Amino acid sequence: MLVAGGTVVDQGGSRRADVLVKGEVVAEVGEGRALRAPAGADVLDASGCVVAPGLVDLHAHLREPGAEEAESIETGARAAALGGYTAVVAMPNTSPPADSAAVVRQVLQLAKGASCDVRPAGTITLGREGRVLSPMAELAALGVTLFTDDGTGVQDPGLMRRAMEYASVLGGVIADHCEDAYLVGAGVVNEGAVSSALGLPGRPAVAEEVMVLRDLALARLTGARLHLLHLSAAASVAAVRAATASGVQVTAEATPHHLALTQEWLAGYSTAFKVNPPLRTSADMMALRQGLSDGTIDVIATDHAPHPPEAKETSMCEAAPGMVGLETALAVSMTVLLDPPGSLSSPGRDNEAGQEHWTGLPLERLLAAMSWLPAKIAGLSALHGGPVAPGAPANLCVVDPARKWVVRPEKLASRSHNTPFAGQELTGKVRHTLLAGEPVVVAEEAQR
Ligand SMILES: [Zn+2]
Repeated sequence: MLVAGGTVVDQGGSRRADVLVKGEVVAEVGEGRALRAPAGADVLDASGCVVAPGLVDLHAHLREPGAEEAESIETGARAAALGGYTAVVAMPNTSPPADSAAVVRQVLQLAKGASCDVRPAGTITLGREGRVLSPMAELAALGVTLFTDDGTGVQDPGLMRRAMEYASVLGGVIADHCEDAYLVGAGVVNEGAVSSALGLPGRPAVAEEVMVLRDLALARLTGARLHLLHLSAAASVAAVRAATASGVQVTAEATPHHLALTQEWLAGYSTAFKVNPPLRTSADMMALRQGLSDGTIDVIATDHAPHPPEAKETSMCEAAPGMVGLETALAVSMTVLLDPPGSLSSPGRDNEAGQEHWTGLPLERLLAAMSWLPAKIAGLSALHGGPVAPGAPANLCVVDPARKWVVRPEKLASRSHNTPFAGQELTGKVRHTLLAGEPVVVAEEAQR
């Protein structure tokens, strides 16, 4: 298969190049010259497109086993492939949770033949109850590299300390959902002007900050590798920046929704915008972007959280938190973060405030945050995240950076349609995705 006419962008930079794929690997990269398609080879048109290593998501809720009405591994992997992903880490808050070898084996089995590589994360504690550690060594022996109780934070600092000690012995990473349950209380949206105006209980930014600070201190003590999931608050970014400067082994992620949206989007009481941690102020959003720009935040991860309609069609207090993201993550990020930055059609002035100071990211930095850096954190660099070079596995995505499209929830491949970006026009669309040389997504109009 020849991927013809595109510009390859990977950790080696950007260059005009055709890419020849044979079997599961890249056979040849023709820099600055056209490669001839061998007899019988298919040609994928990449003209005007970026050819990049497939994206890697560290944070996807695929809901299987247990909540297949929201998503299955098959539908979630399909959504991922359509979004340009060739690998996703499946969060372990399933039912039952991935706190045993049996459930991890089940997820691996269900993932066979899926449209992308699905890697299960394991829980930190049994049942995600925060009381007893999971059999982390057994899970690691099955290839689990990320341990997380995501959905809730581990509230007991002594238990978290032991989890970090085990994780560092096992060569694993603690992926940390940072929210102090006592400070969160019954809060459902960010504590501040919007929670007051809407009369809803607030979830303060300090609930995240105190657990970030606690776990940075524990990571310093134990030497464990700590990955902070879905950071949302400016103070958290500042804490990570200081810890990194002093040598703590920490990586961090932000989601497209926290990088693109603020609490003002909740003004219409739409539960599509309810998520944990909550959408916060424009100052928080701009701090996340700045963190991404200076490398304090390494990764953009989706926190893809599908829910069936009945879980969202209720009051703000009752509604399930979370949003789908796999099919929109790259386009939302490209739309609001690239240089020159675009914007979403927004409901309130505050969402615009501060954005005039945003100078935008280069495309290479954005792809680093969505492909090779997450691949490295999850221990997947041998298979995913490039570089696009002869002999490397052909896990690739082809992206048209100029293509505009409108998000239509009913057209998403995910079984759930709870996107906050419904009706938004985004710039940047995945045209093809290749998984181990196999074209799992091919734009029909581009085939020739
Ligand atoms: Zn979480």
